[in-house]
This record gives sequence, structure tokens and C-alpha cells, in this order.
Amino acid sequence: MNKGTKKRYECKSCNKSYTTNSRLNFHVKNVHQTAIRRTMCLVCNRRFRSLYNLKVHQRYVHAGIQKRQACKECVKRFSSKRDLADHCH
Ligand SMILES: [Zn+2]
Ligand SMILES: [Zn+2]
Ligand SMILES: [Zn+2]
Repeated sequence: MNKGTKKRYECKSCNKSYTTNSRLNFHVKNVHQTAIRRTMCLVCNRRFRSLYNLKVHQRYVHAGIQKRQACKECVKRFSSKRDLADHCH
């Protein structure tokens, strides 16, 4: 009988171990799940392998369609020509 050996809860992602399951869950949530969230596009929910890939995606996919159509008669801007046309004075 070896009472000195306590059960450890190991994190599969980084091999850190914790004495309780809830501590492990806390660690996974804070360290690994936020990392996943950080590389996820909040606009279209696509996931990317790195923060760099996400930035590139956002710049090309979303920044490009951001309100480029400006109304000549007021300060309003629209994301498409149709929206601009629908908006009239
Ligand atoms: Zn971990
Ligand atoms: Zn996106
Ligand atoms: Zn206008």
C-alpha cells in the first residue's frame, strides 16, 4: 500500500497536473480554451491555426467589405451599393 501516491489529473495539452479535477478544468478553460477563442474569427466563427492567420483572414475577408459605399449627401456609409441606393434623401 502506497498512500503517498495521490491521483493527479493531467492536462492532455501541456502535461501539467493538478490534484483535483476542478483545478484541471479551470486550467484547461483559462489556458487552452481561451487560446482557441483567440484564433477564432468572431465575425464568421471560422477557426484558424494561428493568430496571424486570423489577422490575415480578417483583413482580406472582413475589412474589405467594411462600409466602403459613402453617401455624397450625408456622412453615412454603407457596406454595399444596394444599401446605399436604399438609403435616400
Ligand atoms: Zn494545459
Ligand atoms: Zn471571418
Ligand atoms: Zn445620405
